[in-house]
Formats: sequence, structure tokens, C-alpha cells
Amino acid sequence: KLHNELQELKGNIRVYCRIRPFLPGQAGKQSVIEYIGENGELVVLNASKQGKEGRRSFKFNKVYGPTATQAEVFVDTQPLIQSVLDGYNVCIFAYGQTGSGKTYTMTGPEGATEKDWGVNYRALNDLFRISQVRKNTFTYEISVQMMEIYNEQVRDLLSSDGSQKRLGIVSTSQPNGLAVPDACIQVVNSPSDVLELMDIGLKNRATGSTALNERSSRSHSIVTIHIRAVDHKSGSSSHGSLHLVDLAGSERVDRSEVTGDRLKEAQHINKSLSALGDVITALAQKNAHVPYRNSKLTQVLQSALGGHAKTLMFVQLNPEVTSCSETISTLKFAERVS
Ligand code: ADP
Ligand code: MG
Repeated sequence: KLHNELQELKGNIRVYCRIRPFLPGQAGKQSVIEYIGENGELVVLNASKQGKEGRRSFKFNKVYGPTATQAEVFVDTQPLIQSVLDGYNVCIFAYGQTGSGKTYTMTGPEGATEKDWGVNYRALNDLFRISQVRKNTFTYEISVQMMEIYNEQVRDLLSSDGSQKRLGIVSTSQPNGLAVPDACIQVVNSPSDVLELMDIGLKNRATGSTALNERSSRSHSIVTIHIRAVDHKSGSSSHGSLHLVDLAGSERVDRSEVTGDRLKEAQHINKSLSALGDVITALAQKNAHVPYRNSKLTQVLQSALGGHAKTLMFVQLNPEVTSCSETISTLKFAERVS
């Protein structure tokens, strides 16, 4: 009974764990994942510890093994997309160390074809598909914003000049209020409109940095889809939003090895990821005080994390033994928010 009550309390937060396969050339390597159960159980080997200590088990809402396809993962995400059209604010995060498959899950591999599309594209396709099905009852207006948070600064990824301008965040309790009102917002009419925008966003993300991967692993990228639904019969309107967040890599850096800019980056990432964990935990525990103000990330997402909201966290794991301690710390974060 207690378990059911807890589930109900935490009903709006889901944690799905995904283990990426070994990459080509790594075949036959031993995995730190010892066991994957049908009901979200997972056993991990901790190479640095002996005996009973050397094994840890975890349980999440779902666990996907290395052979899970993008389509299989999306099946369990789909109900949340429907909620957006019903007026919910939905946040979908990918959390994990660099190289664990966050971008693969959210967007897909580089140059992906439809079969390898990640959650982003599938979600958008669904939004348009369902809005078509309901078009005799509702008119939907769908618009998109794309931002990046790097070193606790919010940058617009859709501004035509790829502007480096810092954007301000306003705190808004309005369901349709924009947290970052100065960021471009573009109305879209089809999935291909969105694909075009996402391309622009990716190009802007690369501007000013020599290696896209380097930079993208140290910033959070947020694609926000705003939906306004007008009911034909009553004329009343409602709002929903979908935030798709590819988080900065969660790996800890060795303070003795980095200095200057790299240390500053690491501290900002650390601060914002723990702030996110604190907010989700506070919401799950229905605490009176939710500490949104501790990072730009939680400020931008404030209206979408509390209230009429649903949250999904993809926790990404790298199966390599050399990543073992990062994997355990990722799982501990996941355990805290689940
Ligand atoms: P991250 O965004 O966390 O740094 P990536 O998504 O870039 O990690 O993934 C790292 C590498 O692993 C990429 O080459 C990616 O294509 C590959 N990869 C990740 N997840 C999968 C998967 N489920 N199946 C096949 N390849 C994957
Ligand atoms: Mg990535």
C-alpha cells in the first residue's frame, strides 16, 4: 500500500534508463551491466569493489538494453506527447555522461533516416498527426523556441544572426507565459518546418566553437514546443508545452587536472544538474519550497516542472567497464529523482 501511495505521489515523474550498445570496434567487451529485468530492474557491476559490494541493483520505470530500437523507446514516450495536446506541460530530459547516448535518444545519430529518428522528431510528428485527427474539434497553433544554456547564460539558437546576446528569464505563473520572452518564437505548420528550424538551431549552436561536440557536451540544449488549442464549440483556449532537453555531460572533472575556463564550465554544469535534481526531488516529495532559483536551467523550465506537468528523464548509460564509476554516479542521480 505504501508503495502505491508513493507511486501516486511521484506519478508525474518517470525515469527510463537506456544502455547504449558497444560501438563498432568494441564488440566482445565486457559490460558493466550484469542484468536487465522486464520490469525496470537493473544490476550493475562495480569493478572497484569486491564481493557483495561489487553489485548494485536499481529499479526504474523502464530499462532499455543495448538492442532496444528508437521505435521501441518511443512507444513508452508517446502517452506523454498526447498529454501536451491535452494541456499539460511536459519536460523530457536526457541525462548522462558524454558519449552515453543522450543525443542519440533525443535526436538520433548524425544523418539519421526516419527509422533512427530520436524522440524529438517522433514527438513532433505525433503532435501534428494528432492535431490533424482532432481538427474538426480543435484548432491548434504550434510554435517553437530553441535555446542553449552555456556557463549559466541563455542563448537563442533561432535568432537569424546567430546572436550571442544573453537572454533574460522572467518568472511567469501564466500557463502560456514565455519564460524567455526575447527568444525567437516561430509558428510551424508541418514536421518539415520544424526539421528546418532544428537545422538552423544546430548550425547556430556550432557557431563560435571549433568543435561542435566539445561545446555541445558542455551546454544544455532546449527545444520548446508551445501549443495553443482552441475548442471550436466553446471558443475557449488552452495551452500545453513540450520541452526537449539534451543536458550537458554529467561527468565529473578532476579538479587537479583542469583550470580556468574548463573548470568554470564544469562548475556551472555541476551546479545546474544538481539544481535540477533538487527541483525534481522537491516536486516528487511535494515540498512547499521548490528551489527553482538555483540555476538558469530550472528557471527557464520552472512553469513546465511544477503544477500541471509531467516529467520524463532518460538516464543514459555507457556499458564500458572504464566508465563504471560515472555509471554508478549517474544511477545514483537517477535513483534520487525517481
Ligand atoms: P552523448 O550525446 O551522450 O554525448 P551520443 O548520443 O553522441 O552521446 O552517443 C555517442 C555515440 O554512441 C554516437 O556515435 C552514437 O551514434 C552512438 N550511440 C548512442 N546510443 C546508441 C544506440 N542506442 N544505438 C547505436 N548507437 C548509439
Ligand atoms: Mg550529445
